Amino acid sequence: MNDQDLKGFTTRAVHRGRGFAGTTGAVMPPVYLTSTFETGNPDGFDYTRSGNPNFRLLEQSVAALEGARHATCFASGVSAITAVVSTLKSGDRVVAEENIYGCTYRLFARVFEKFGLQVSYLDLSQEGNWKEIRRQRPALVWLESPTNPLLKIIDIAGISAVASEVGSPVLVDNTFASPYLQRPLELGATLSLASTTKYINGHSDSLAGIVATQDDGWHEKMVFAQKALGLQPGPFDAWLTTRGLRTLALRMERHCANAQGLAAWLETRRGIRQVRYPYLPSHPQHSLARKQMSAGSGLFTVELESTREQALAFCRRLRLFTLAESLGGVESLVCHPASMTHASIPVEVRHKVGIGDGLLRFSAGIEDLEDLHRDIDEALEEVLR
Ligand SMILES: *Cc1c(COP(=O)(O)O)cnc(C)c1O
Repeated sequence: MNDQDLKGFTTRAVHRGRGFAGTTGAVMPPVYLTSTFETGNPDGFDYTRSGNPNFRLLEQSVAALEGARHATCFASGVSAITAVVSTLKSGDRVVAEENIYGCTYRLFARVFEKFGLQVSYLDLSQEGNWKEIRRQRPALVWLESPTNPLLKIIDIAGISAVASEVGSPVLVDNTFASPYLQRPLELGATLSLASTTKYINGHSDSLAGIVATQDDGWHEKMVFAQKALGLQPGPFDAWLTTRGLRTLALRMERHCANAQGLAAWLETRRGIRQVRYPYLPSHPQHSLARKQMSAGSGLFTVELESTREQALAFCRRLRLFTLAESLGGVESLVCHPASMTHASIPVEVRHKVGIGDGLLRFSAGIEDLEDLHRDIDEALEEVLR
């Protein structure tokens, strides 16, 4: 079958990309645990830092899911971010959404600003702030949607249109939505980045990152960064990620249904101050979420009417939700941002942006909804008695 005939998302996830099984007939691709390749081989491999059959398969598969011409894989989401930012030079300006992933902020603030990169942070959910993109003509606009942990939705098409007027490339960190629910390149973004550690791999057993683009120039820069900065993944991690992504659609359907079901129920339960989920009408950017995502994803936040101690006691009392950082795996997780992911942010700043002591972020796994429901209900009953 011609590759172009593979129209459906899951058909592409299962069939796109070459497995390099050679003459063996192996249905699943082998893992190429080799650091180097004999010179002059027909596939053009030379050294694993600059390419390996397992990377190529992963890259072709993710490109197919993102609707991209190119994708380049890296050792982690943070490696992928490093690759993109390493293309900038001293004096360049980045306009970034103010609620970006903490490690992206840290990389800008503690590493790249030392080399003269200038970053301005704006609330990009406010259209009034987009004029700063026109005014500053940044070397890069950096956003993610939904954001972490507040699940703000940023208008990717709107911002991409404004940025393209002044020739600024737009990067979207698509980790929270995954290409099953949202394809930034189709909405006009230049680069779509993901920590495949989360939904794309989906089994919490390996780290990797990916950058997808339609642009040949950007693709060249990413391939260069992969080998020149030594940001490549291990072949086995690339293999695990390729295996994981074949079931992305099936898992996302369940993640979304579980998150939507739990969030809608929690909104009506006593003891809860606020629930945030992009596909609930109570979400401030609900109609935008409906427009740019095909479902609400597996994350929701809940603000308990509780002290910090009660919130943590609630987390410990849960049996099916493990208290841990990360998200997007088959197992449910819960995170207390104020003491975990966002602990390093000064208290006043945290409260100002809406990360209070009672705020919890849930990553709904693929378990049965009734079991997750009962687990939360019993824990709330006990702690908020
Ligand atoms: C986890 C995460 C990253 C970083 O990915 P790693 O694979 O942990 O390096 C980047 N962006 C977002 C939105 C994330 O959730």
